[in-house]
Amino acid sequence: MLERTLGIVKPDGIRRGLIGEILKRIEDSGLRVVALKMKQLTRSEAEGFYYVHREKPFFNDLVDFMTSGPVALFVLEGENAIERYRRLMGATDPKKAEKGTIRSDLAESMQCNTVHGSDGPDTARFEISYFFAATEIVKR
Ligand code: ATP
Ligand code: MG
Repeated sequence: MLERTLGIVKPDGIRRGLIGEILKRIEDSGLRVVALKMKQLTRSEAEGFYYVHREKPFFNDLVDFMTSGPVALFVLEGENAIERYRRLMGATDPKKAEKGTIRSDLAESMQCNTVHGSDGPDTARFEISYFFAATEIVKR
C-alpha cells in the first residue's frame, strides 16, 4: 500500500551533524522525501506531539530532550513506507536495535535515539498534519 510517514532527526542527531547520513540511508532504501524542514519545537508543541506518552515516567525528560535544540522534520512516501522506515530506524533502545539500523549504528541511548518514525497509519496521519500543511507536501 502507498503510504506516508513522518520522520524526525531528533536534537542529538542535529547536534552531531547526522541529517545527511540519515537522509542518505532513507533515500538509498528507495523511500521518497516529499516534505522537509527544520524547526525548534516549543514545550507545548512537543507535549502535544507525544500526548500518548503523557502518563509515562519518561514524559518530562522526553519533552526536555525534544526541545533541547532544533529538529529536522520530514515526510516520506512509498509502498509500506511506515513499516519500511521503522525497520530502517531499528528498535527504540539502540542496544537492542539490529546491526545496520540507524539507531544501532548512530544512536546514543534509549532517550537520545536520534530518529522518530510514525508507528501506524493513524499516527502517521496525525503526525504529518501536526507539522505540515497539505501545501508543503510535494508530488514526486
Ligand atoms: P519514536 O516514537 O520517537 O519514533 P519509538 O516509537 O521507538 O520512538 P516510543 O515508545 O514511542 O518509541 O517512545 C517515544 C520516545 O520516548 C522514544 O523514542 C525515546 O526517545 C523516549 N523513550 C521511550 N521509552 C523510554 C524510556 N524507557 N526511557 C527514556 N526515554 C524513553
Ligand atoms: Mg513512537
